[in-house]
Amino acid sequence: MTRTTPERPVAPLGLFPELSGYRRTGTRLHPRKGNPELHESSVAGPFLWPADEPWPMCQAVHEKGRGHRLAHVRLRRRILDDAWRRDPQRGPSDEEREILAGLQPGLHAPDLRDTDPIPMLAAAQLYSRDIPDLTGPEGYDLLQILWCPFEVHGPARTMDVMVNWRRSRDVTDVLTDTPEPAVVGRAECVPSPCVLHPEQITEHEYVGLLSDALQERIEAWEEELLEVAEENEEEYAPGEEYELTYQHDLSIPPGWKVGGFASWHLTDPARVDCSSCDTLMRPLLTIADREWDLGSLSWVPIEDRQVIRTMGASAPTDVYLGHGLMRIFTCPTDPTHPHRLSFQ
Ligand SMILES: [Zn+2]
Ligand SMILES: [Zn+2]
Repeated sequence: MTRTTPERPVAPLGLFPELSGYRRTGTRLHPRKGNPELHESSVAGPFLWPADEPWPMCQAVHEKGRGHRLAHVRLRRRILDDAWRRDPQRGPSDEEREILAGLQPGLHAPDLRDTDPIPMLAAAQLYSRDIPDLTGPEGYDLLQILWCPFEVHGPARTMDVMVNWRRSRDVTDVLTDTPEPAVVGRAECVPSPCVLHPEQITEHEYVGLLSDALQERIEAWEEELLEVAEENEEEYAPGEEYELTYQHDLSIPPGWKVGGFASWHLTDPARVDCSSCDTLMRPLLTIADREWDLGSLSWVPIEDRQVIRTMGASAPTDVYLGHGLMRIFTCPTDPTHPHRLSFQ
């Protein structure tokens, strides 16, 4: 099934023609739980990885034995998914709750030293044929993202992400047994397998990066909308409260995506410059905890209208990095320059 972002509630360029200088395409990935195949774009699906190429390992020094068993993370999700599907009111049975209570974090791999390498997790695999905004080094058609499932790397104590481009036609003998770490630092660093439904859309720059004059016009428009709503004494049902705004409805969609703009709703906008050539970098991949929330309902695909409030439907990948968003930035001059991460 495809996914279709509805028309914007108002036409952005009709209201603010100056936005024509602040447009860019992005590809919403629309991950949904499923069983992706080797030759498909996916989150946490099987990787097209050469059998004779070593699997990437986290070599950083940090605690590696304490955390959640990876097998427990998956068992917990399976139990909860089944339970909420079976009983949308109550969820897990008493017996299931007892099993879940036994899946506690702890020192599950006492023999692992902090200096021991551990396999990185296969997080996402993206084929350029599926994703119009995916641009890498010349001739490379497959992007593979791996990360260490501990948020403890570097001075910022955060994720360590590997960006791996390859030519899919070069892979003939495929690795069948993907190495995995036994223990993960946080369950929310483990993505659940999802199939993707890529859809190219047009975005408009984050409000704080528009010209001052345009920001003022947008602010005036939003105030006017509020006044009209108050005059009409519009009432919403609980949980339905919804106000049209530039940021929530016209600018940047929620969810996983390739390309487009970066939202800076938690911090002031920050320049992300290439460490090799100083060029302003662009978001390559945005990893989001939710595909929608109450502030971004206008972006919910038409095909998902029925499940807006279904338990878990808006968080199919089960990841939560940073304060909900991790962006991988790459250099537009040379995609092989080192990537950078930014969080919101
Ligand atoms: Zn690590
Ligand atoms: Zn560069």
